[in-house]
Amino acid sequence: MALTGVEIFKLLPKTNCKKCGFPTCLAFAMKLAQRQASLDLCPDVSEEARQKLGEASAPPVRPITFGTGDKAVKMGEETVLFRHDKRFVNPCAFALEIKDTGDDINSRIEEVMNSEIERVGQKLRVDAIALMNDSNDAGKFETAAKIIAQKAPDVPVIICSGNPVAAEAAVKLFADKKPIIYGANLENAETMANVAKTYKTTLGVTANNLDELSSLTEKIKSFGIQDMVIDSGARKAKEILQDNTFIRRAAVKKNFKPLGYPVITFAQREDSLMEALLGTIGVAKYSSIIVLSSIEKWKNLSLFTLRQNIYTDPQVPMQVEQKIYKIGEPSPTSPLLITTNFSLTYFIVSGEVENSKVPSYLAVMDSEGLSVLTAWAAGKFTAAKIAQFIKDSGVENTVSHRELIIPGYVAILSGSIEDKLEGWKVTVGPREANGIPAFLRSKS
Ligand code: SF4
Repeated sequence: MALTGVEIFKLLPKTNCKKCGFPTCLAFAMKLAQRQASLDLCPDVSEEARQKLGEASAPPVRPITFGTGDKAVKMGEETVLFRHDKRFVNPCAFALEIKDTGDDINSRIEEVMNSEIERVGQKLRVDAIALMNDSNDAGKFETAAKIIAQKAPDVPVIICSGNPVAAEAAVKLFADKKPIIYGANLENAETMANVAKTYKTTLGVTANNLDELSSLTEKIKSFGIQDMVIDSGARKAKEILQDNTFIRRAAVKKNFKPLGYPVITFAQREDSLMEALLGTIGVAKYSSIIVLSSIEKWKNLSLFTLRQNIYTDPQVPMQVEQKIYKIGEPSPTSPLLITTNFSLTYFIVSGEVENSKVPSYLAVMDSEGLSVLTAWAAGKFTAAKIAQFIKDSGVENTVSHRELIIPGYVAILSGSIEDKLEGWKVTVGPREANGIPAFLRSKS
């Protein structure tokens, strides 16, 4: 069971030294109880307390990373059942299955490599390859693994085989890439655990039901394996929904460690629409990896969009990077507009500037993701801050003129910006973004 703040407090040094960044040990204990701080922040905690607290303050779903580099996939660390309770932490990953019996291995690798799209400023893609040992032949499996290792060296891989010899033949090729070996079951648990231990990989555990799964993870843990992803054997929509919900509930509400691991869901279907539907259940309800048999663009777009929405932190507005964006191919005489970095504001304003067909510069200022009026009201889009941003941005070296177009909603700032930005003229643009095309065309 998770410890309360007071129980945690009793185990801390109680010196209120503030080294952890909190004013008192009690304040730190409360944050630990809410799993909003790491015990590592307290340098003075005793080894005995560390052991007790480490368990208690660990997230109920074990954090696991597979793959390396920019494309590494983080899973687990979840602490809530519903996003509105706090937030979901690590978006689920999509993996495309590649069968070692297939004659389309190269083209499927290409599909994964080309799956990336940009949406609302984020790069979204099919994250991994699930190599399936359909042949049950170690040699064939190794050959297919070699192609993947060669053609997609930075794509995280799930090596799916219940045959320890085949699994080992393939995992050798990804030894430094943190793959997952999936396929440990009641019969092969110890041998598969040994392979995972040798190559320091995460082990995928599969069972026929939840009871079997929880005793299996405990057994595998006793072999020295900590990092696991789990599969209850659910393949139908209703079963996936039921089992995934049970697993998350047991982990989060009961701190039931045997099920406190990221879930892998196999959603493959011949009917691609049905597969997409199963994928949406996995995204909405707690799968950390969803394996698909095909990744058509329409399916990717719908699954990516759903994932992006569900895994957006409701407490943090979506933002784009603060910088000067070029729209079209602007020259030094092109107009310079300014707006805030709320994603929606940026996309609407940049879209309307594009519609105007007048190449322009768009200065996007960090307003902590607030829209223009809200940012102004909150004191984050003020004359002083705008003037400072324009000076710091270096745009004075990019444009030859000194005219800044501000949103009509903050017309009130024009005089004070001019006072603070010496030599600049401030022009008040339209209040609504849809007025931008006519406004810019009238100026050019
Ligand atoms: Fe207390 Fe440790 Fe924080 Fe110091 S660093 S205030 S001892 S919890």
